[in-house]
Amino acid sequence: PSREDVHYFGAGPAPLPTAVLEEASKVLLNYNDSGIGITEISHRSADANAILAHTQSGLRQLLDIPESDGPDGYQILFLQGGGSGEFSAVVYHMVSIWVARKAKELGGDEDKLREEVKKMKLDYLVTGSWSLKASQEAARLAGAEHVNIVTDSRKHRDGKFGTIASPDTYTPTADTDATALTYYCDNETVDGVEFQAAPDGANLVADMSSNFLSRPVDVRKHAAIFGGAQKNIGTTGITIAIVSNRILPPHTPMADAGLLRKLGLPVGPVVLDWPTIAKNNSLYNTLPIFDVWIAGQVMQKLLDASTGSPRIATQQSESDRKAATLYAELDGSDAYHVVPDNSVRSRMNLCFRVRGGDAEAEKAFLKGAESRGLLGLKGHRSVGGIRCSNYNAVPVSAVEKLAKYMKEFAEGKI
Ligand code: PLP
Repeated sequence: PSREDVHYFGAGPAPLPTAVLEEASKVLLNYNDSGIGITEISHRSADANAILAHTQSGLRQLLDIPESDGPDGYQILFLQGGGSGEFSAVVYHMVSIWVARKAKELGGDEDKLREEVKKMKLDYLVTGSWSLKASQEAARLAGAEHVNIVTDSRKHRDGKFGTIASPDTYTPTADTDATALTYYCDNETVDGVEFQAAPDGANLVADMSSNFLSRPVDVRKHAAIFGGAQKNIGTTGITIAIVSNRILPPHTPMADAGLLRKLGLPVGPVVLDWPTIAKNNSLYNTLPIFDVWIAGQVMQKLLDASTGSPRIATQQSESDRKAATLYAELDGSDAYHVVPDNSVRSRMNLCFRVRGGDAEAEKAFLKGAESRGLLGLKGHRSVGGIRCSNYNAVPVSAVEKLAKYMKEFAEGKI
């Protein structure tokens, strides 16, 4: 089949706008009339710098990210190592600045600092497989004694993910001075739950890998936001981090490696070190500029189509509409049931079962879908069922085709 014959609903990597890929195929051969392809040019060339600036500017406009150099500003960083790399980067960084702040407060008294470090906590909201993994990485790096699971959705739902419990049930670290970070995953790709609004918490850090650029974000509420590009933004290979100047030098000191080692705390690799990457405008080491270019083109398309304020609001309307079309079909028939609770259903990853999770029925559903060019609908291997990923590059026409198929399948016409 050709590209026009199929619609792909995979969870990531995910579709990109065809127009962007067509242009990409040209710039791979010859970028900006230079005779050299985009993957062949230096990441320190003027062309590469212009690409970087264009993508950063696109993201700033779309999400209304404060630009100032002062403490209220945010840096946009491009890193490698994926969302998983950031699970580690977050721990290294937030622990380091917490220790540096404490050390300063205590005037360099290391015995007292050692006592204070015992109280340090990394608060994690565990609402699905990805926040669980992030919390496990924190325990591996910093020690389980420093990780506080503020909420674990499985406790509220027969041992399975699929809900986000009310904040009344949360147990954040009582002493916010001891809280090095509060971590949450805005959209759980495997389990199909999405926060309706950013939760509260000291030094808030969000993983937005699977719902980046699908709705406005209260950036100022966060110390940092990160996400892999390969779902809603671009190609696999870069991770974007939006980091508050408040947690970067010179506004916040960093603990030095020697001190962290003495305290038995982790020291991260330099390629994950936010201050180093920020200081070098993401060019500390070789950056895959092609990936940054793709992200910039995708962002430009969103900006060109945008009439809302913030600019991403236009995309949000489309994402919401597409998700509503699919959920209406799922709710309208006994053949389906949506796995997560109604109030926290993801607009990006719709997880459902067919005929009560009957294996043969689900197989038939997938087979029928495939025969119509509707691909990538199998649920994650850890949970089974069906998952439809409704990322930005999935066109309305694809969603309509899938909704029609769902209806026909439910009516037994397939
Ligand atoms: N966070 C979320 C929400 C994800 O969906 C994923 C991957 O699908 C990750 C993190 C891990 O990303 P990566 O595979 O880029 O390390």
